[in-house]
Amino acid sequence: MMSAPSMDSFWMPFTANRQFKANPRMFESAEGMYYKTPDGRSVLDSTAGLWCVNAGHGRTQISEAVSRQIQNLDFAPTFQLCHPMAFELAERLTKLSPAGMDHVFFCNSGSESVDTALKIALAYHRVKGDAGRTRLIGREKGYHGTGFGGISVGGLVNNRRAFGSLLNGVDHLKHAWTPGTEFTKGQPEVGANLADELEGIIALHGAETIAAVIVEPIAGSGGVWVPPKGYLQRLRDITRKHGILLIFDEVITGYGRIGGAFASNHFDITPDLITSAKGLTNGAIPMGAVFVSNEIHDAFMTGPEEAIELFHGYTYSAHPVACAAALATLDIYEKENLFNKAYELGEYWQEQLHSLKEFDVVKDIRNYGLVGGIEFHSGDKPGQRGYDVFEHCFWKGNVMVRYTMDILAMSPPLIVEKEHIDEAITALRNGIKALY
Ligand code: PMP
Repeated sequence: MMSAPSMDSFWMPFTANRQFKANPRMFESAEGMYYKTPDGRSVLDSTAGLWCVNAGHGRTQISEAVSRQIQNLDFAPTFQLCHPMAFELAERLTKLSPAGMDHVFFCNSGSESVDTALKIALAYHRVKGDAGRTRLIGREKGYHGTGFGGISVGGLVNNRRAFGSLLNGVDHLKHAWTPGTEFTKGQPEVGANLADELEGIIALHGAETIAAVIVEPIAGSGGVWVPPKGYLQRLRDITRKHGILLIFDEVITGYGRIGGAFASNHFDITPDLITSAKGLTNGAIPMGAVFVSNEIHDAFMTGPEEAIELFHGYTYSAHPVACAAALATLDIYEKENLFNKAYELGEYWQEQLHSLKEFDVVKDIRNYGLVGGIEFHSGDKPGQRGYDVFEHCFWKGNVMVRYTMDILAMSPPLIVEKEHIDEAITALRNGIKALY
């Protein structure tokens, strides 16, 4: 059995995370809802790895499909050449996306998915002869990965301030949150009009300068923020009115996380582009997929040849092994009806999470589908409480949660059962009791 490395191990791979370096937390294997640590503990995965292992760990259908694929066709270049599975996967995927989004561009991660979508949006306006539309609009607290495009439109200032000049001409909508209002199934009842701020930004710069708005339907990594009812539809109406593209970043909300295949379907909104990754392959192999509306696709296919400046793609776009993993993953989602799990268990999940409101140290609890966020009142050192509870849960409660400053995030694999939810909430309750 492998033992945890010591903190001064010179061979440790580089990480900018000092807390991890001081106190490595390691996993050795995983099955179903649980990880195994090198010291032999079972740790409940209440975050689906990193919001991605939606069908639970160790799925043999996926590992067998991957292994068969490596033996059969280990690699094939795409763009000028291709392989049939890329088509098969694209077809399967577009059956899940909203009607009118029948094309998929493959990449390898959420960050690539976001940069791809931004580039397609910018190039689309050029193809249409609207080259002046170069501005992009993101949202405060939005997380869109770590590429330069993603951090430019992302709303987490800490993630971008060290990196010099980023994309030009980016604005950020305010964070759409209405504390203290009535909730239904985790969604604030009022506040749709917060989207009208977009009209102000458009008036300031002129619609003819704006290419796209990108938002996460539910902001995950920035702390689990659920937009008010009607807010996303209002964004759709305003963007459509002004010829601005709407990109939903569904890297977290895609593949069943909030019920239905995508948040777009769930909220009955058709954006122009959808980014996805994570749950696409159940976390087993890196892959991203950008869904593109037929209108955008057709513009590239029929627009003036000289206007097409979309040189974009990756060596590993539609990698055959990733395609095999994704197809096997979709089979599991379908066969086990996992996209319905967030509806079936959402209410129980909500009740259990909100039971933690009994603690004074808890400032707010937010949830939607099978996503949950618990925010603590910050102590003397902001972020310390989130970290301390996370540590306590990992070592003493044998439950993995995530923390972003003083907010804990949870997003269990969709195979979760009530007893797993109870186990996670008990670990949190014990942790909070022990610490405060
Ligand atoms: N967009 C969103 C909404 C995400 O949550 C993430 C990852 N947490 C990304 C993009 C980036 O994905 P990746 O880490 O795979 O690059």
